[in-house]
Amino acid sequence: MINLDGNIHERLRSPQRSLIVALPFRRDEYDRVDTVFGYRVQHLHTMGPTKGGIRYAPDVNFGEVAALAMLMTWKCAILELPFGGAKGGVRIDPTVLSRSEKQRLTRRYTMEIINFIGPEKDIPAPDMGTDEQVMAWLMDTYSTHVGHTEPAIVTGKPPSLGGSIARREATGRGLMSLLPAVASHVGMTVAGSRVAVQGFGNVGKYAAQGAAEMGCKVIAVSDITGAIYNDSGFDIPDLTRFVTETGGVRGYRHGDELDPGELLTLDCDVLVPAAVGGVINGDNAPAVRARIVLEGANGPTTTAADEVFRENGVVVVPDVLANAGGVTVSYFEWVQDLQNYFWSEAEIVARLRAIMNRSFSEVLDMAVREGTDLRTAALIKGISRVAEAKLARGIYP
Ligand code: NAD
Repeated sequence: MINLDGNIHERLRSPQRSLIVALPFRRDEYDRVDTVFGYRVQHLHTMGPTKGGIRYAPDVNFGEVAALAMLMTWKCAILELPFGGAKGGVRIDPTVLSRSEKQRLTRRYTMEIINFIGPEKDIPAPDMGTDEQVMAWLMDTYSTHVGHTEPAIVTGKPPSLGGSIARREATGRGLMSLLPAVASHVGMTVAGSRVAVQGFGNVGKYAAQGAAEMGCKVIAVSDITGAIYNDSGFDIPDLTRFVTETGGVRGYRHGDELDPGELLTLDCDVLVPAAVGGVINGDNAPAVRARIVLEGANGPTTTAADEVFRENGVVVVPDVLANAGGVTVSYFEWVQDLQNYFWSEAEIVARLRAIMNRSFSEVLDMAVREGTDLRTAALIKGISRVAEAKLARGIYP
C-alpha cells in the first residue's frame, strides 16, 4: 500500500543488532547455580537510540524478542518519539525467584549486555515480569560500572532514582485515554459500557482503574491465577488491594469464578487483552462479542483474528498505538533525566494525553482515507516515517 522501497523493506525485516547471552546466577541455596538465556535485540538505530522493555518469562525466546523489538520501532515512529525499537528478555519464570535471586539475575544480565546499552545507545524499561525494582538494580549495576550515577540508562525506575511520576500508570492510563475517541467513532457511550480485562498486572490494573473512573463497568478480570466475573462491575481499588495481598484475582469474594478463556468472548463492549501475545486467534475471534478491542498487551491478536474482526466490524486499536503510553512517559523520563529537571504530574499526564490523542486521530484519519483498519493505518504511518528517515540518511559507506 505504501510502495515501500524494496531495499528498505529487506533491511527492516531483520533486527540491526542482536545479542544472545548465557548467564549463570546463584540461587539462595549457595551451591546451586542456574544458567539461563538472555537476549537484547535492537531493531533500528536510524531514528535515535533504541528503546524497549525487558521481559522475564519462562518461554521468552530470540524470535519473540526480535519481533517485539520491531513492534517498538513502529510504535515510536507512530508516536513520533526519537527512538528506534529494542527489546530484551531472560528466559526464566520470575515467580519462582526470591527477591535476592532476582537481584543477582538482574545484575548479571545487566553485566552481560552492558556494552550494548547506554543512555545514548539503548535504554531498557520494564515489561512482563519486571518492575521498578528490577530497573533500579539495572541502573545501579550500570552506574557502578561506569563510575557515576546514570539515571538515563533506564526508564520505569522508582521516582527517588530519577524515575518519572506517572510512569507506572502510563500504559494503562494512556490506553484508556483513547476510549472516548474510539467510542465516539463507533457510536458508543463510554459511561456504563461493559469492560473485560485479561491480565491484572501493570497494564491491566491501571486500564481497569481508568475505565472505572470514566464510569465504565469492569465486569470481568483475569490473571495467571484465574478469572472472575461481576455483572455490576468491580470496585477496582478494592480488587487491587486484594491482588496485592494475595498475589492474584482468584478467590476475590465480590466476584464469581469464570473460565479464563471465556473472558475473551463475554458479552461486553470493550475487551482489553493486557497479558500475553497470541490470545485472540482464528479459533476464538468469531466468538468475540466486544465492539472495541483495546490492545494493552503486545501482539494479543493474530493476523487470522484481525481478518475476522475486519469482517465482523470489531474495531481493534492496535498495540503499537494503544499501549504506547508507557514508552511515551518513558521518553519523558529519559528527557527529564538528561536535563536533571523534573516535571509535575499534571504536565506529564496532559502531555501524555495530547500525544496519544493526536496520534490516534492521525491514524483514524489515515484509516478512513485509505479504507483500512486501524492497525494497517498505524503501520502505514510508522513504516512510512522510518522509510523517509532512512532514505534521507542514505547508506554508509
Ligand atoms: P505484568 O507482569 O505486570 O502483568 C502481566 C499480567 O498478566 C499478570 O497479572 C499475569 O498474572 C497475567 N497473565 C500472564 N499470563 C496470563 C494468561 N495466560 N492469562 C491471563 N492472564 C495472564 O506485565 P505488564 O507490564 O502489565 O505487561 C502486560 C502486557 O502489556 C505485555 O504483553 C507487555 O509487553 C505489554 N506492555 C506493557 C507495558 C508496560 O508499560 N508495562 C507497555 C506496553 C506493553
